Amino acid sequence: MNTVNNIVVVGGGIAAAKTAEALRAKDYTGTITLVAAEMHLPYERPALSKDYLAGKASFEASLVHPADWYRDNDIVVREGATAVSLDTEAHSVTLDDGSQLPYDKLVLATGSVARRLPVDGADADGIHYLRTVEESDAIHATFGADKKLVIIGGGWIGLEVAAAARAAGTSVSILEGGPLPLLRVLGEEIARVFADLHTSHGVDLRTDVKVEAITTQDGHAAGVRLEGGEVVSADAIVIGIGVTPVVGIAVDAGIAVDDGVLVDASLRSNDPDVYAVGDIANHQHPVLGHRVRVEHWATALNQPASAAAALLGEDVQYTELPYFFSDQYDLGCEYIGYAAPGAYEQVVIRGSLADREFVAFWLDGEHRILAAMNVNVWDVIDEIKPLIAGHTVVDPDRLADPEVAYAQL
Ligand code: NAP
Repeated sequence: MNTVNNIVVVGGGIAAAKTAEALRAKDYTGTITLVAAEMHLPYERPALSKDYLAGKASFEASLVHPADWYRDNDIVVREGATAVSLDTEAHSVTLDDGSQLPYDKLVLATGSVARRLPVDGADADGIHYLRTVEESDAIHATFGADKKLVIIGGGWIGLEVAAAARAAGTSVSILEGGPLPLLRVLGEEIARVFADLHTSHGVDLRTDVKVEAITTQDGHAAGVRLEGGEVVSADAIVIGIGVTPVVGIAVDAGIAVDDGVLVDASLRSNDPDVYAVGDIANHQHPVLGHRVRVEHWATALNQPASAAAALLGEDVQYTELPYFFSDQYDLGCEYIGYAAPGAYEQVVIRGSLADREFVAFWLDGEHRILAAMNVNVWDVIDEIKPLIAGHTVVDPDRLADPEVAYAQL
């Protein structure tokens, strides 16, 4: 392999910062440049819809590293810069100010953008998406006991924002297109736990609704008109209907893209000098045995160490199982593994759904655990992980029995 002296990371989020960190930890001494679209040093996003949104944590607590760290490690962060094109032949990235960054190796860590709701009125004032710290601040400012917030989309953003808003006394309606929030990810039984959690905390949860338009008054959002004509009034509206991976420059450069950048087990694209990590990486997962693209913090946190090692010439693969967590009211949960809709045959519960204290397991037809979620039960992930990674066949009755140790399954 040619000597690597010049690495460019396109992205300014946690995946970008962790790539730089991993390269220096590997004693790489060449240049590292981060192309960061936001006017901030890289920060972590989980708190933006949880503690930070609730006013319980500072922004500094979400920074991946303080400014000194980038200086001390000789890492250049081009804040407010966007990569507009990539020339893989010339090994060069062009930024929106016209400047060009040559590279020996390139890491794409461009993340996602919020999917926009294509209805009339959706560009009015008072409509919010949640991706950046400024957007979190703007949503926080809509909270209050005399305020009415309507959330479109009952996914992770919608539910976490609802919990923070209710904690501040805000009236909240959630408008979800499907029959239950999180149905696609969790299936009916567990999705119902989240639906009940929110209704028991006073959320007006409406499912199977179709949003037709945002109604406005003097240019400001005033409500959401549903199919059938009903208008749900609002002082502000949050839209959380999913995200789209940012892969434009990769597509234009001819890199293989299909629901994200197609990368091998080592996170390398079809161009041997271009890697992808985080939300945009459609990864050939060596343990799961299939491709997976994960839009969660832990993937952006953990993939860069493998990508950095691989691009420096080590023979490594990224093997961590997908993981995420959520906090809503008094419910905390973690999810490990991956159970695609239709890929599992049954859900086994260890514990009590009614008490919201359980571990749920998604099993395939041969009784192998594809994924698990612990809800208000802690310190079990490390015991469950080897069962998923080892494709262990389990007895569902013993799995449901809290008296049977995981190691005995
Ligand atoms: P999401 O989790 O994909 O959920 C989007 C939700 O909106 C789904 O329930 C979807 O239903 C629904 N929806 C889609 N179009 C709709 C419409 N026109 N009207 C009403 N509902 C509609 O996406 P998100 O909540 O926007 O979150 C954005 C990203 O951030 C995701 O990748 C998520 O994983 C990540 N995130 C993660 C966490 C965490 O890990 N704790 C927290 C916040 C955000 P269908 O499924 O039926 O389409």
